[in-house]
Amino acid sequence: MRIETELKLGFKDVMIRPKRSTLKSRSQVSLEREYKFLHSSSIWSGVPIMGANMDTVGTFEMALELAKEKLFTAIHKHYSLEEWDKFMKKAPGNIQEYIAVSSGTGKDDFKKIGEIFGQYPQLKFICIDVANGYSEHFVSFVKKARNQYPDKVIIAGNVVTGEMVEELLLAGADIIKVGIGPGSVCTTRVKTGVGYPQLSAIIECADAAHGLGGHIISDGGCVTPGDVAKAFGAGADFVMLGGMLAGHNESGGEMVEINGEKYKKFYGMSSETAMNKHVGGVAEYRASEGKTVQVPYKGAVIDTLKDILGGLRSTCTYVGASKLKELTKRTTFIRVLEQENVIFNK
Ligand code: 5GP
Repeated sequence: MRIETELKLGFKDVMIRPKRSTLKSRSQVSLEREYKFLHSSSIWSGVPIMGANMDTVGTFEMALELAKEKLFTAIHKHYSLEEWDKFMKKAPGNIQEYIAVSSGTGKDDFKKIGEIFGQYPQLKFICIDVANGYSEHFVSFVKKARNQYPDKVIIAGNVVTGEMVEELLLAGADIIKVGIGPGSVCTTRVKTGVGYPQLSAIIECADAAHGLGGHIISDGGCVTPGDVAKAFGAGADFVMLGGMLAGHNESGGEMVEINGEKYKKFYGMSSETAMNKHVGGVAEYRASEGKTVQVPYKGAVIDTLKDILGGLRSTCTYVGASKLKELTKRTTFIRVLEQENVIFNK
């Protein structure tokens, strides 16, 4: 046994220190970024916020709305080929810039992404997602995907430490998804004791990835637009959201009414709900590592997006960043023991 005594931080442990700035208004701030990837020759530009590949968030309906604002969606892996066909027929001309096809690491997953890319070779992004990105099998799968698809942009995760970021980049991934345990419907930390505070995970993984020319996604743990800003400030190239995008018209999950109030069901992808739905139940050897919750119905996702993007523009003006690109270099975090004043919260 070994113990690391350096304190690791989450979003709740810091605030961003304001700095003198020449910016007059939030409207002067550009949130668009352009990325050139490590392996794929694709260049991407857009607002680097992503809908998570959960069946309640990474829906086709969500992708259409997010793409209008140049945001990205990792489409969940449970759509059939027929559903892909229907979507691709009605989606606008450049949707391939704003969506990823998701995959696990099974044989069937590999076959299915093969079928989707066979049908729609213009799709560029693959999101290879497993709860635990530390297995040799996962690294081999990333290598296999890179051999099969030399020019696709490969997203791989999830991990939380620099050495594994490097290993996955060297195995062929372009972008590493970072986060173990911070998710709103995740119970990994409770069920296993394993995890890493998200802000420190971003800082350490971004450093490792950028050193090799790779990119990272901060995945999970954002509760407010301020957390999204902190994730970018810490060095994330993209920020992935689950819970903040749940509960909308465009989100999956059934609507329920409780005492006259509307709610939408939201659940983790390793929750009992998801496993019953997609794989016929929780296997005996494992525990479910996700929750099922009811999220108050929030209407159209565009209003939430405006709130998030408005917050982020405002962060940039507080620190004098005229572009999102400058936010990390202009960020000084201060460690704190308080956040918002909750006197009037319900
Ligand atoms: P959120 O934005 O809701 O805090 O986090 C979203 C992220 O939580 C997802 O992108 C995914 O990485 C993670 N996640 C989704 N479902 C589960 C689950 O059932 N268990 C765990 N451990 N993580 C989950």
